[in-house]
Amino acid sequence: MSSPANNEIRQEIERFMAKVIKRNPGESEFHQAVREVAHSVIPFTFDHPVYRKEKILERLTEPDRIIIFRVSWEDDEGNVRADRAWRVQFNNSIGPYKGGLRFHPTVNQSILKFLGFEQVFKNSLTTLPMGGGKGGANFDPKGKSDREVMRFCQSMMTELYRHIGARTDVPAGDIGVGAREIGYLFGQYKRLRNEFDGILTGKGLAFGGSLIRTEATGYGTVYFMENMLKHRGDGLKGKKCTVSGSGNVAIYTIEKLLDLGATAITASDSGGTIHDPNGIDREKLAWIKELKEVRRGRISEYAEHFGCEYLPGKRPWVVPCDLAFPSATQNELDGEDARTLVDNGCIGVAEGANMPSDADAVSVFQEAKIMYGPGKAANAGGVAVSGLEQSQNSSRIAWTRDEVDGKLNKIMDDIHEQCVIYGGADDGYVDYVNGSNIGGFVKVANAMVGYGIV
Ligand code: NDP
Repeated sequence: MSSPANNEIRQEIERFMAKVIKRNPGESEFHQAVREVAHSVIPFTFDHPVYRKEKILERLTEPDRIIIFRVSWEDDEGNVRADRAWRVQFNNSIGPYKGGLRFHPTVNQSILKFLGFEQVFKNSLTTLPMGGGKGGANFDPKGKSDREVMRFCQSMMTELYRHIGARTDVPAGDIGVGAREIGYLFGQYKRLRNEFDGILTGKGLAFGGSLIRTEATGYGTVYFMENMLKHRGDGLKGKKCTVSGSGNVAIYTIEKLLDLGATAITASDSGGTIHDPNGIDREKLAWIKELKEVRRGRISEYAEHFGCEYLPGKRPWVVPCDLAFPSATQNELDGEDARTLVDNGCIGVAEGANMPSDADAVSVFQEAKIMYGPGKAANAGGVAVSGLEQSQNSSRIAWTRDEVDGKLNKIMDDIHEQCVIYGGADDGYVDYVNGSNIGGFVKVANAMVGYGIV
């Protein structure tokens, strides 16, 4: 990057980022997500000046609106609690806002804005008509009884219901929001509105949910990795994989790896990592599901039960592997972790989580030219099947498991193809960061140009 043209592009990126940082003080996760996109999209807009003239990226980094509200509820001891909730409606240029709700004590506006911003690009990549949004609360469901979680969800929906709708905004689950929470939220919405409508996805099968939605993010991430490998003339069979997390995404990543002949040798939670060199087989995976979904226990119990190594306070990236699947949370893999992975022979990373690799880690992967599938491409299977759930709800039909899985597989192929179109280089290397950022940008940008200045 030293020609006059490249210097101009670099200066433009720095000017643009300076404005974003000034307008959104203290929102480091949001800055990080925007910077990554700016590095891909600003050079592209130099070749497509209409997007610069119409200030598309400036408009795209400003959410349509953010709703912030108090959620008051009562715990089992009769104490009054007050938490804060948000819904970030980021951009609805190509469809109703769509994106999950996160319940975690670390939730803040910066995190929800980074997630909502990434969601705009991700949803565009799926080829389905969905805009981007995200929401959540700083409520911690860990250690709460089912009744406490229910009272929180009911109180939250008592405000949220005014702002969502099948044609407006359709939330789903994310960290801390699974089948139980979606059930309580939907039950309260139905009571308030007296309408049975597809206003949430990830619903139970008895009330409008789609087969494969629970599995979709993990399955889709593995399908994406399979595509990256195939593009290099390789395959999943026999590969040893490290997986972080032990929640929804991690569990179904491990399951699909088993289906396709690979083995996961780690899982983790916020307490530490288990390392099982023999591999997490189906029986052990069923045990993890029960541990996490029913008993809501800690992953350290796996090491005690199956007699394997537990690494307290550690992440899985110290364990040598062929492929890595970060599936827990943002910034869980830094530059040093990335160097360790590469030095230990890792040839590919597919992100089940959103922005799990920090900027240094991404640079390490790109310099080493290993396959690196960023979350907005690799984990788009979850929201894609949410889109399919919406289609089934509005046409009042239910597709079979094979039908939904087939559609998910095809969508992940199409996302990979778009990444190759926008991120492929002459030497055969695919820059999936550029590919997904530009691929996701074009459709939304063209819609915004079409609408004029709104
Ligand atoms: P879950 O709540 O089911 O599981 C989250 C897992 O990550 C748990 O094992 C949790 O451990 C761990 N974790 C969460 N926060 C931290 C932290 N700060 N440090 C270490 N570990 C942590 O969430 P999901 O599996 O649904 O989501 C995981 C990731 O995937 C998130 O980044 C989410 O945004 C992303 N994603 C999810 C989709 C979905 O369909 N669910 C769709 C697309 C992306 P512990 O229990 O100890 O907190």
